[in-house]
Amino acid sequence: MKMNTAQIRQAFLDYFAQQQHQVVASSSLVPADDPTLLFTNAGMNQFKDVFLGSDKRSYSRATSSQRCVRAGGKHNDLENVGYTARHHTFFEMLGNFSFGDYFKQDAIRFGWQFLTDTLGLPKEKLLVTVYESDDEAFKIWNEEVGVAADRIIRIGDKSPDKKFESDNFWAMGDTGPCGPCTEIFYDHGEHIWGGPPGSPEEDGDRFIEIWNLVFMQFNRHADGTMENLPKPSVDTGMGLERIAAIMQGVHSNYEIDIFQNLIKYTADLLNVTDLENKSLRVIADHIRSCSFLIADGVMPSNEGRGYVLRRIIRRAIRHGNQLGAKDVFFYKVVQALVNEMGEAYPELVKQQALVEKMLRIEEEQFLKTLDRGLAILNDELKTLEGAVIPGDLVFKLYDTYGFPADLTADVARERDLTIDEPGFEKAMQGQRDKSKEASSFGKDYNDALTTEQSSDFTGYDLETDTASVVEIIKD
Ligand code: ATP
Ligand code: MG
Ligand code: MG
Ligand code: MG
Repeated sequence: MKMNTAQIRQAFLDYFAQQQHQVVASSSLVPADDPTLLFTNAGMNQFKDVFLGSDKRSYSRATSSQRCVRAGGKHNDLENVGYTARHHTFFEMLGNFSFGDYFKQDAIRFGWQFLTDTLGLPKEKLLVTVYESDDEAFKIWNEEVGVAADRIIRIGDKSPDKKFESDNFWAMGDTGPCGPCTEIFYDHGEHIWGGPPGSPEEDGDRFIEIWNLVFMQFNRHADGTMENLPKPSVDTGMGLERIAAIMQGVHSNYEIDIFQNLIKYTADLLNVTDLENKSLRVIADHIRSCSFLIADGVMPSNEGRGYVLRRIIRRAIRHGNQLGAKDVFFYKVVQALVNEMGEAYPELVKQQALVEKMLRIEEEQFLKTLDRGLAILNDELKTLEGAVIPGDLVFKLYDTYGFPADLTADVARERDLTIDEPGFEKAMQGQRDKSKEASSFGKDYNDALTTEQSSDFTGYDLETDTASVVEIIKD
């Protein structure tokens, strides 16, 4: 059954509505009142307090398609974009949730039924993982669902001292609701490199994780201690783009309908003929996160959330430059995104003009220094000894040409080089000491959160806000 992305999203919500789940709209990418979280990174975020027992809803089962960004903090996939078939900075997470209602048995049953019945996936293509000591989940998969024991893989903690640091122990951040989980994988076939989870080749993209069912049982505190949640609950997340790839008979998420249309549009714009070019994929990914972040009220700036946004925009612009873009182009791709996703996300349509304007201003600003910065980097690389770009150079590119460190790292990676991060941090610290002013640039962007924007953001007033936008870009 070939389904487009919109149909899959709808089929998911319909299935869970039939199972008495309340359909809940996606929340903003800017988490409401949660300073521990950079951006919304999972469907469960908006229900965090319900899991903790401090908030109550009129329903005990919910389902949603949640927009997520993973570009910093605990879940950071920025560096994976362009390198794996399955990671985006922005993606949609389909989820079903039980707040003290059903637990492991029904969560597993629903998941399996939706995949194999509603979507008709062949059972022999699926395999599952469970948390090492979770005999209960193993038994449900094996005895009730009928998955053969050799297709159920137990995954333990990464090392004995890292208790509860496992792919099968899910946590939204360093603190908050967490618990053991069971993940469902799809085998895309022998012709693709990679091994099943737990094997030495698991980093490959042959076996792709599609759905994570989390058995929310604990609340983790900052000191690492865990207390039981008031009621055992369920939180699941399935990447819409990953399941769409399977339903559309392709391997990479970048080959699905939404991405192909974004890629074609950008290729036309930049006169690129090779549609598999990595940079096209990066741009198609980044236009989604950047547009949705701006539509949700984040503005490019030099700190916190705004700096993460700026880094993503600049990375996209650099990839456009690599494809031969001679002028501003990135903001033009917004139109293609609105064509693809405007129907599902009316807020994007509402904010289109603003998103375009912000991206254009940011791009014009960065283009002034991009060429010179790249020329300097190229020059230095000609005489580089070894495979590490010195921290001082990374700092100079940052300080003078506006290159975020991960942009330099992205260039470096394409040439099998790395950057000297400690050296860069030291140079940054030197500057901070000099200016006696705390800069918020750091590796863990959670440290640098500015949470002045709340999720009830309803849009900018274009007329009056342009001036402040320009101010921010200048900072
Ligand atoms: P992976 O191991 O592939 O990085 P994950 O275990 O980090 O995925 P979860 O935190 O379990 O992902 O999120 C639930 C689901 O959301 C995943 O099973 C996957 O389908 C989807 N997902 C997670 N991260 C991304 C991403 N960066 N881009 C697209 N989909 C994602
Ligand atoms: Mg991940
Ligand atoms: Mg995983
Ligand atoms: Mg997972």
